Amino acid sequence: MTANTIRREPVLKPTSKGHTTRLKLSGGAVIEEVRKKDWVNIAFLTLTPVLGIAGTAAYTWFHGFHLWMPLLTLGMYGAVGLSICAGYHRFFSHKSYECSPLVQAFYALFGAMAAQNSILWWSAAHRVHHKYADKDWDPYNIRRGFWYAHILWIFYKNEARPDAFDNAQDLLANKVVMWQHRWHKQIMLAGGLGIPTLIGAAFGDPLAGLFWGGFTRLVVIHHTTFFVNSLAHYFGKPVFNAEASARDNWLVALVTLGEGYHSFHHRFPADFRNGIRWYHWDPAKWWIRGLRWTGLATGLISTPPPQVEQARMRAALRIVEEKLTATSTSLVEEARRRMRAASHHLEKAIALWRRAIEQRAQGISWRKTRRAAHLHVRRSRKHWKLAVRMLEAA
Ligand SMILES: [Zn+2]
Ligand SMILES: [Zn+2]
Repeated sequence: MTANTIRREPVLKPTSKGHTTRLKLSGGAVIEEVRKKDWVNIAFLTLTPVLGIAGTAAYTWFHGFHLWMPLLTLGMYGAVGLSICAGYHRFFSHKSYECSPLVQAFYALFGAMAAQNSILWWSAAHRVHHKYADKDWDPYNIRRGFWYAHILWIFYKNEARPDAFDNAQDLLANKVVMWQHRWHKQIMLAGGLGIPTLIGAAFGDPLAGLFWGGFTRLVVIHHTTFFVNSLAHYFGKPVFNAEASARDNWLVALVTLGEGYHSFHHRFPADFRNGIRWYHWDPAKWWIRGLRWTGLATGLISTPPPQVEQARMRAALRIVEEKLTATSTSLVEEARRRMRAASHHLEKAIALWRRAIEQRAQGISWRKTRRAAHLHVRRSRKHWKLAVRMLEAA
């Protein structure tokens, strides 16, 4: 894990009245507005941790502990967390796969229980985050500070603007999305708090169900989701883009159902995976593959390995490129030679990958061609990694 090394740039600051934000209007004009505090959000996000941590602890202390209680938290966290990661994020915001209306309804119901607003609102804001990441109009811009990106941005009101959903025309045309946009608050209260209370009642303690499956689960789901905007833009390695704040970090992935490989995600947002290796902790990716296996999901988008390798190589070289132009020793010469070899192997890998796709479409044997592409990717990696090490030592 490396500490954050983001270049600090002047950003808009809070004022006594609220937080300033910049809006880019069509036609290129930029205005600044003062955003007012949202006291409902402030009260909700302050009270739920009190109830979910202190309240649950006190209630359990006086009324006893049973194994079903943390299991209820975990079960609700799984259903709601997956609806946010695989649903709100990878399906509705990024369209990284197609899925049946049944699955969409599951995401809409359990996603609403996360108390993170509707799919329409969440996805529209998230698309702005990707488009303007690290810039003033990124809604949770990390350059405004760790806590602003984590939670403080929600403490300010979003005035309803006519262009708020201009980037979500596809979602405006989706019946499930529009139904959920109308009812998400009711679903949150009736489902997010009602279901765990009923499950608690089945075990003879409805209030324990409400505390463990309602409030504690809500706090966990809130802050693990918020970690993606804060931790995943702060700690870790910018493996796929050296200039962006998004980072790859397995520890963050562990607490966010796989969303910690955020450097990869910002570089390839259409990919249904965030952790690309088989051993990368990414339950949302496994869930989506499971849906495909049952026939409930199709058209999973994944980036070809040669393209992924190219992005990794460029990001790694970006960090040492000054040495490449500043010095000219025999070591630098050898590094240049290695880089040329790495690029050559990548070009071959890309061509072979394309040919394998064509062969597959024609129904002829393609696996051998794809294996050859993988071989060139590995050879390229060997060369560029050695080049980077040489430049680091130069
Ligand atoms: Zn991000
Ligand atoms: Zn995203």
